[in-house]
Amino acid sequence: MNIDVLILLIAPLFFALGWIAGRIDMKTVIKQAKSLPKRIYEGIDALIDNRTGIASDNILETVEHEPQLIELQLSLGKLYRNRGENDIAIKTHTKILNSQFLIDNELRDKIKLELAKDFEQAGLVDRAEAILIKLLDSKLYSHYASELLLKIYQQDKNWQDAIVTAKKLSTSDYSYHTEVSHFYCELAQGMFIKSNIEDGLKYINYALSVNKKCVRANILLGEYYFNQGMYKDAIKIFEIIETQNHLYLPLITEKLFDSYIKLNQIKEGLTLFHGFITLYPKLNLCDILFHKLIIYDKYSVILDALRSTMKNSPNSKIASLMIDVYLKDSSTNLPVHAKSDAEIVKNLLLDYNAQLSRYRCGRCNFKAQTFFWQCPACYDWESMAPISLER
Ligand SMILES: [Zn+2]
Repeated sequence: MNIDVLILLIAPLFFALGWIAGRIDMKTVIKQAKSLPKRIYEGIDALIDNRTGIASDNILETVEHEPQLIELQLSLGKLYRNRGENDIAIKTHTKILNSQFLIDNELRDKIKLELAKDFEQAGLVDRAEAILIKLLDSKLYSHYASELLLKIYQQDKNWQDAIVTAKKLSTSDYSYHTEVSHFYCELAQGMFIKSNIEDGLKYINYALSVNKKCVRANILLGEYYFNQGMYKDAIKIFEIIETQNHLYLPLITEKLFDSYIKLNQIKEGLTLFHGFITLYPKLNLCDILFHKLIIYDKYSVILDALRSTMKNSPNSKIASLMIDVYLKDSSTNLPVHAKSDAEIVKNLLLDYNAQLSRYRCGRCNFKAQTFFWQCPACYDWESMAPISLER
């Protein structure tokens, strides 16, 4: 048979098959579409138009009569929460929990967990906590409930319950030892504030027993020795910080230097300090100790240290300190008008520097002027290095 004739015969057949396939698909789609009540479409449409109240009412009323839509309703509740519409999320999840069609206990626990998340996000932590504590017996959701409880206990500064929960959550994959050591440090700090030294020291020991490398526990211990006038012990502990994590030196440099001053070992203190400057120029330690250096060190040596910092980590504060040294050093013999101009520039640099955010969370980028062991935004521990970042 001629090829052209064959094509002419087969082409309509393919066309017919395509048409039938199209019909079958369309039929399925129409059938499925018809199975969803009209109010669901109206609800989704309202949701897209941000008429969330109407969307919620339409969908909530529909689901009462359509038990197969519970999962859809659950997802919509999560969507509301993610949009920050906590009240509608709470209403949605509560309504599903009260549904007469909800008979599966695992699904009930799943919805309770979502409702607890809604309450937590809305700031109603007591209500979230009450639901989560009951979920601790849940077969599938106990772990998730514990994780959220741990977050709530930290927000509430309920460190004792946080410790118990974190220890329960601990696995070979993730031990929570960093978190638990910080919880003990928080307790220790609270005890020191109340002048309960015995319990303060007890919690520091607990922190170190959970995490031998807990820099914060050693800082607290060093500060305790310092405050007690036990300067040799303070120096011994503070110097451990350098080996544990030198990034935390800015937190103890001043008390370490003061310990040497109290022991009348100023030369040793200055030698150690200049060693730190050489080894860790990016830490901006000059900024912290400048007011001490200007008393105990030579102007030329201070200027060298500032130059070294400026070279490795230029910033407006160090620039202002350099100007200050020139102004204080009478040997520079600056004319009066030059001194006055230099003073203006110095103050401008200081004003500018005072407005900068000094610390940034490495996890969520939250910026702050004060240092936090736990980021106030993402609740991660040790995610902020105590180093001034902006210039
Ligand atoms: Zn953060």
